[in-house]
Amino acid sequence: MILRHTPVELAERAALTVNPAKTCQPVGAMYAALGIHGCLPHSHGSQGCCAYHRSALTRHYKDPVMATTSSFTEGASVFGGQANLVEAINNIFTIYDPEVIAIHTTCLSEVIGDDLTQIINKARTDGKIPKGKKVIHANTPSFKGSHVTGFSSMTQSMVHYLSECTGRPVKQINLIPGFVEPSDMSEVKRIASEMGIRTVMFPDTSGVVNSPLDGKFHLYPAGGTTVGEIVSAGDSLFTVALGRTASLAAAKLLDTKCRVPFEVLDLPIGLRATDAFIDTLRKAAGVSVPDSLMEERGRVVDVMSDMHQYFYRKKAALVGDPDQLVALTQFLIDLDMDVCHVVTGTPAGPKFERSIRKLAGEGTSVKYGPNADMFYFHQLVKNERPDLIFGNTYAKYIARDEDIPLIRIGFPIYDRVGHQYFPLTGYSGALRLLEKILNALLDRQDRDAPEEGFELVM
Ligand code: SF4
Repeated sequence: MILRHTPVELAERAALTVNPAKTCQPVGAMYAALGIHGCLPHSHGSQGCCAYHRSALTRHYKDPVMATTSSFTEGASVFGGQANLVEAINNIFTIYDPEVIAIHTTCLSEVIGDDLTQIINKARTDGKIPKGKKVIHANTPSFKGSHVTGFSSMTQSMVHYLSECTGRPVKQINLIPGFVEPSDMSEVKRIASEMGIRTVMFPDTSGVVNSPLDGKFHLYPAGGTTVGEIVSAGDSLFTVALGRTASLAAAKLLDTKCRVPFEVLDLPIGLRATDAFIDTLRKAAGVSVPDSLMEERGRVVDVMSDMHQYFYRKKAALVGDPDQLVALTQFLIDLDMDVCHVVTGTPAGPKFERSIRKLAGEGTSVKYGPNADMFYFHQLVKNERPDLIFGNTYAKYIARDEDIPLIRIGFPIYDRVGHQYFPLTGYSGALRLLEKILNALLDRQDRDAPEEGFELVM
């Protein structure tokens, strides 16, 4: 009953966010940076920011997340962080020897106005960047955007600093996966390899934040996209960008910089979006779809039709990240469910709202940006009660207060495991999602069933 005072009446707010439905930009930038092999993310700001971003990722992935910080104190806060950053770059290469340092800014360094391009150039001129090593950066002030836009900026920065076009095309397809789990990245790569397509995925956190325990500490785990692969992305035939909010900017920049054509698709979550992804890959690479994928698809269709009566007209309320929300809405509508509320703290823009309304209908409540917070989402739930809530760990308070089943999706998930290892993307991800939805609905039906309606077979 912790949220029992949340009022039912909705009021317009201009300058107040209560329990944001997002986290800060550097979290996403740090996560993206971990998707480069041998990269050490660096937080240009105070120690507290870095500690928070690391702990957010560590709690979600249950794997230690390494990052360094410019460690601002009063001096840097007043005079700027150039001296701290140049010294940090020198120390990091000397002590930790990464291939790449990926720097992201924080609120404090952005308010001061530190010019990262100039500081990195100074470090290079001063001989602090060893030959063959790379330093890249993304501007990620957290008084705007969200972890998703931070992820997008760091991915864009990989193209800006690393991708090159030699004019000798390489028969490979670029995949920009969006802010998804390492398990989702693996699944997307597996689908492409099942089709016999050579791909470069960046960033790729599989094998980094879900690496196996082997008794040794690996500062740079085996996974991640190598710098060489990101360089070669400039010579690829085509780019498939998954999720408009997280991946469009990098794909666009690669097109502008190296003339690699691209298509932006919804995240391949659910049947239709996975079909679209596979069809785009098929056309881009000039291959056909193997029977093995058709079999996987058939299993999803089988469960959808076998269990349709349980999905039919069930109401869902969704809170989370925009790219996931669009794909999930499509899938739920395909299951003949109704989507009544969709909320994201990311400033996803009117295109996001139009996409949701087109899929779910004009009656759906859609809100995005800083005022689209958990408090507002709870009010919507109180006004029109759904059968299911989809959201991250923070939604569990609302779910418990309202006694509505919660299906955990998105970031962060601090109180369950599985997301690191089992995908929601692709046909196998669709099956997993179907199982989660069905189990939540059937568990509730069992719990509420009268004695004579407590069924053995469902
Ligand atoms: S909101 Fe700003 S000050 Fe707070 S942790 Fe994030 S970057 Fe640091």
